[in-house]
Amino acid sequence: MTLLSEPLQFTPDHGIAAGPGHVTLVGAGPGDPDLLTVKAARALREATLVLYDNLVSQDVLALVPASADRVYVGKISGHHSLSQDGIIELMLRLAGGGRRLVRLKGGDPYIFGRGGEEAEALAGAGIPFDVIPGISAAQGASAATGIPLTHRDHAESLVYATGHLRGEGEARTVDLDWQLLSRPRQTVVIYMGVGTLPVISAQLQAHGLSGNTPAAIVERATQPGQRTLTGTLATLPELAKRHDVRAPALIMIGTVVLLRAELGQAAATPAVARTAAA
Ligand code: SAH
Repeated sequence: MTLLSEPLQFTPDHGIAAGPGHVTLVGAGPGDPDLLTVKAARALREATLVLYDNLVSQDVLALVPASADRVYVGKISGHHSLSQDGIIELMLRLAGGGRRLVRLKGGDPYIFGRGGEEAEALAGAGIPFDVIPGISAAQGASAATGIPLTHRDHAESLVYATGHLRGEGEARTVDLDWQLLSRPRQTVVIYMGVGTLPVISAQLQAHGLSGNTPAAIVERATQPGQRTLTGTLATLPELAKRHDVRAPALIMIGTVVLLRAELGQAAATPAVARTAAA
């Protein structure tokens, strides 16, 4: 692994093309390497240079050849090891200098991963790129916990929202369309919401969503040590605090969470046992 505190040195004799290089934005999925797309797995096996985030699991990184250069540009909530501008600058410098590189991002690159900003920068700089989608945390967590996000008896719409704080200093707050998120017969999935769960819970209740609405939080979905806590909109913040839930974790709100009682057992059965039973 190349640490950013060290000078970046890359193997000079591979991956250099004449003219601008190329960037492949690859979705690494939620952690389980079996959940990579075939195309993503191929891009990783053929990579000579990979820029990756902290959400990318070690098992996924293990597919990258040992000879490839790996650069950790991770972001841990509150401790960005490289700013988003810094990541973009590095990517442009490397690809602009002729390198072919893989930009590996957790989940899907275009869902809350700032992949859109990176793609814009590449397009603006005239650097060819392509995007390989990944299974987003919501899909990984849904299947792994037995919570079908749009079961027709429960939800007609599904909203993905971010619980990330916006603004500066004292004014930092979760700035969401609470009215929209509090609608009935809807499932709300919140990314990056562990730290702001108390605010999210209070705002949704203040905008009319019942405190009894079923809710779940899924920590490290599809990864070893996956944990799921279920409760209600009112009880979830306390539950998450008591069990010391940490990022990455996903919050799901809506009556679909009730289906876990029926479907969760099958989802929790290890793949090997499922195959043997089939
Ligand atoms: N592009 C990613 C999301 C990046 S934002 C995707 O499509 O999944 C980071 C947030 O994603 C985390 O704070 C967490 O809310 C969620 N997340 C990512 N991986 C997760 C996992 N394995 N389990 C639970 N939540 C996860």
